[in-house]
Amino acid sequence: MFVGDIGARAGRDGRAREPQVTVVFARVAGFPRMDAMSAATVDLMDYTDVISRYAPVLGMEVHVELGTATKMFCGCPTEFGAEPNTQVCPVCLGLPGSLPVVNEKAVESAIRIGLALNCSITPWGRFARKNYFYPDQPKNYQISQYDEPIATEGYLDVVLDDGEIFRVAIERAHMEEDTGKSLHVGGATGRILGASHSLLDYNRAGVPLIEIVTKPIEGAGERAPEVARAYVTALREVLKSLNVSDVKMEQGSLRCDANVSLMAKDAKEFGTRTETKNVNSLKSVEVAVRYEMRRQAAVLSAGGTIIQETRHFHEGDGSTSSGRVKETAEDYRYFPEPDLEPIAPDAAWVEELRGTIPEYPWLRRGRIQADWGLSDEVFRDLVNAGALDVIIATVDAGASVDAARSWWVAYLTEKAKEREVALEDLPITPKQVAEVAGLVEAKTINNKVAKQVVDFVLAGEGEPAAIVEAKGLGMVSDDSALQTEVDKALEANPAIAEKIRSGKIQAAGKVVGDVMKATRGQADAARVRELVLAACGVSE
Ligand SMILES: [Zn+2]
Repeated sequence: MFVGDIGARAGRDGRAREPQVTVVFARVAGFPRMDAMSAATVDLMDYTDVISRYAPVLGMEVHVELGTATKMFCGCPTEFGAEPNTQVCPVCLGLPGSLPVVNEKAVESAIRIGLALNCSITPWGRFARKNYFYPDQPKNYQISQYDEPIATEGYLDVVLDDGEIFRVAIERAHMEEDTGKSLHVGGATGRILGASHSLLDYNRAGVPLIEIVTKPIEGAGERAPEVARAYVTALREVLKSLNVSDVKMEQGSLRCDANVSLMAKDAKEFGTRTETKNVNSLKSVEVAVRYEMRRQAAVLSAGGTIIQETRHFHEGDGSTSSGRVKETAEDYRYFPEPDLEPIAPDAAWVEELRGTIPEYPWLRRGRIQADWGLSDEVFRDLVNAGALDVIIATVDAGASVDAARSWWVAYLTEKAKEREVALEDLPITPKQVAEVAGLVEAKTINNKVAKQVVDFVLAGEGEPAAIVEAKGLGMVSDDSALQTEVDKALEANPAIAEKIRSGKIQAAGKVVGDVMKATRGQADAARVRELVLAACGVSE
């Protein structure tokens, strides 16, 4: 057969046929039964006993899916949730003769992540083939980086709950491609155990991933589970601030594996570690590490040995169960990827990217809190409400901190809850909120009308000032118009008017209320009160 033959091959009907790439769900049977060993009856040591007898050593591996528009080595889109096998091409399906090309944006993101983690960026490094067969891996190898990762030797200073800083050393961050997804059908749990068949979706195959690996984390002692959670929390925040990934753990765009081992207090060497895979929430990271510490301690103290294996985390009861025996690097037969040129970022580009690394989110928060003069409690509330960024943007657009905070934390939080969306997804911009605050400040509208204006903006009726104008919502500030209403209201309430005249100025509330009603809430209540008192010849 000659090169080029495939594209011109004639079918029985005599017409030339294009080569077709049609991947439907492939049925795969005969997976190893990874879940066969369950977590049924496992001894756990009391946590304080674990700490008195052993020192935990952690190693965290975090996979981050980059938010690039296209895949790592081809032009296929990466959108989450598309119909299965609609975002595929010969390259990411590993069809013979297809050649990968590196996505520059992914390399840029990898370098920025490395810089944000205080790593050195390699001036020259190759991709490597990691060889293994798995049905969600159509090439039967994964393009990764092995001994020449893009970023090495960094660290991240993690703030613990009590404010103490714990430095986590980063060994490396390297680029690789994601695998496809298997869906196991017919079983009760969605796991492979008990499934009748499995479906494969290759949309995710080839999506750019960065794997960030820490050095062994020692010295955390009883705080090891907290350190693990704090590290992933901090890393997630940094990645979010870099805008390289949406870091959604529940959608798998940030996946965490926790390596845990224990050393007896007098031991010189690390114990055997286990790797708990895909721990998919921040809280679970802490729970999984604590569970493994207690389980391993029970095994070791009973004279047993820890097997180097992967373990599955069970969200329901916070336990882990045995997975597969862990491969070693030798099993993968790594070799330099022959289809790709080495990555050789020049120093000027790296320096340019260094200039794009933002302040760490927690440092930024501390600085802003001090600038705004807010208490820890008030500040924590607005951070927890997810309102910090929109408040900053609103202040930047000219609103006072108080006004911006009050809009976003109170009224707009309520609106976001009603609509079940995040604050930043409400159809009102920080600039528009600042405009409304400006209208209140200038006494063009009062607070009550301001809420109506916000409602109109949320309903898509335009810009705040234009809405006030078009709907005639501006405050009645013309004294002569107000005076007429004040006189009418006093006439209608002669007994109250008499009381006010006799000095019982607290009685003025009723008259002010009537005037506000008459002006459809658009008057400045304080000014109305002044006019009422003046008309009765009294003052505050
Ligand atoms: Zn593709």
